[in-house]
Parts: sequence; structure tokens; C-alpha cells
Amino acid sequence: MIRPFRAALTAVTLGLAALTGSAAIAQDYPTRTINIVVPFAAGGPTDTVARLIAQSMSKTLNQTVLVENVAGAGGTIGPKRVAAEKPDGYKLVLMHIGISTSVTLYRNLGYNPVTDLEPIGLITDVPMTFIAKKDFPPTDMKSLIAYVKANKDKVTYANAGVGAASHLCGMLFMSAIGTDLTTVPYKGTGPAMTDLIGGQVDFMCDQTTNTTPQIKGGKVKAYGVTTSTRVKALPDLPTVQEAGIKDFHVGVWHGMWAPKGTPKPIIDKLASALQAALKDPNVVNKFAELGTEPVPMNKATPAALDSHLKAEVAKWAPIIKKAGVYAD
Ligand code: ASP
Repeated sequence: MIRPFRAALTAVTLGLAALTGSAAIAQDYPTRTINIVVPFAAGGPTDTVARLIAQSMSKTLNQTVLVENVAGAGGTIGPKRVAAEKPDGYKLVLMHIGISTSVTLYRNLGYNPVTDLEPIGLITDVPMTFIAKKDFPPTDMKSLIAYVKANKDKVTYANAGVGAASHLCGMLFMSAIGTDLTTVPYKGTGPAMTDLIGGQVDFMCDQTTNTTPQIKGGKVKAYGVTTSTRVKALPDLPTVQEAGIKDFHVGVWHGMWAPKGTPKPIIDKLASALQAALKDPNVVNKFAELGTEPVPMNKATPAALDSHLKAEVAKWAPIIKKAGVYAD
């Protein structure tokens, strides 16, 4: 009679100790540097968003928050690596819409973002823009479409690999105008932009967080923005829809995740720090300058990102299957 009681008591005591232990760890968290993995090369739009957020979160968390670029395979290597990390809140990933399309696009993705990652919150929804090297002949979106169709064998389109937002935007564009183009994949649209400015590649569709300074600085030609209304930061740039491509809309939503199993108190701390970053005037002003804005606070939560990711995976699966585009 005594033995089971003692065993139960020991189990309860051990359980309590474990609970106190993890609660204490969460309370002290973070005690060392946090790394946010960006699945693309430095200097690109995802990297820009991550660096602004990291800088602000580090003030709230009172700890260094660094961005680590783990580029390759259209942005699928970074999240996969983070999914396999220890769930202690020190390795996070910031990725965009591509995390949802990759589930269907990749035959061997090697992890599942819905079940292998712990959502922290949504961040922003960034418009995209069609831009080209300065001496590209077309002068506006309509002439871009005509030119691309007439010269499809020599025109080159830059993207950040299969599954990247630039790839997705290019696919939608090609399908809208009924043309196939030669695509040139990069490890991110940061390096793609360098080549575009240098004239090595003709055109691309990329987030305003990368293109706005180059458009304003006159380094590239700009044709259209992918949202249904014009972007405040680029008021003279017409929408793609204005040029007659009906219903053309691409927004690049971004979110932040931790490995599955990260204790809830740590996730909650990270979500509050993310929300504080999205209210930080530094972030808000810089986002506005770059043609975007933070999501409303009720979207910068684990629950909102969880349902958003699931809905996006379900939304893109039939579209990708119909297009028949797959990667290994
Ligand atoms: N904007 C890129 C994309 O096409 C990625 C990047 O370099 O941030 O998804």
C-alpha cells in the first residue's frame, strides 16, 4: 500500500521539479545571443525585414539578437535547419509566403513547417514590384508585356530559387501573359539586384523592401506594383492591374517561428518582443519608407500565424498542382 503511494509522490515531486525547472528557464530567458535565421542571402528584402526586427527585439529582450543567413534551395534550407534545432528559443527563423508554397512545390522538403515549427507571429505583408535593368527597352507595364512576349527566347528573369516570392510572382506573371521565360536563380534577390543593376540579368519581381531605394535612386526601371492599390512610398508607380492584368495580386507575408516544442512561456516572450518591434517607431518608419507596414497586433501572435500558415498551405496546393511545377 505504501509503495504505490510513495512512487506516486516521487512522480509528482519530479514532475513539479521539472515544471519549476522549465518555468525558471523560461523566466530567465534569454541568457545568451538569439539567432534569427534568414533563408536568403544578406542584403535582400527578407534580410532587411529581419535585421530591423532583430535590432528592436534585442532592446526588448535585453539580449543580442543576430541575423544568420542560411541561403539556398529557394529558402527551404533555413527553416528545415531551424526545425531540427534544440527547442530552447535561441534559434528562430524568419521566412515569408514561400514557407507555405514549398510544402507542395518540393517533392522532398524534408520537414513540415506546420508540424515541425512553433509559430511566433506574423510580421508584415510586403507588396512586390516589377523592375528591370536601366537600359531595358520597355517603358511601361504594357510595353513590358509586349516586349517579353516578342523576345521570350532572349529575355532573362531573375529569382531567388524555386519557392521564393520572386519565383512565385514570375510564375503568376508568365501564366497571366501566357509566356515561358528563362529564369536565373540566385541565393536571394540581394545578389540578383546587384546583377540587375550591373545589367547581367534583365528583369525581376521583388519586394518593395528591396526595390524602393533602387527605384527612388533611379538605379532600375520600375513598371508596376503587385497590390490592388498603389503603394504610398512609390505613388507614381501604377499597379499591374492598371496595366490590364486583371486580378494580379501578390503580397509577401512574413512570419517568425521557433523549433517545435519550444516552451510556451518562451514563445510568449518572443511574441511580445515581436509585437513591441512592430510598434517601434524605428521599424514602423523604416517599413513605411520601404513601402510596407506592420501587421495589426492581433496577427502578430502564435495563434494567428498558425491558422494563417495552414490556410496558405491549403490555398496554394491546388494552384501549384494545377501548374505542375515541382522541385526536388
Ligand atoms: N525576395 C526574395 C524572394 O524572392 C528573397 C530574398 O532575398 O529575401 O523570395
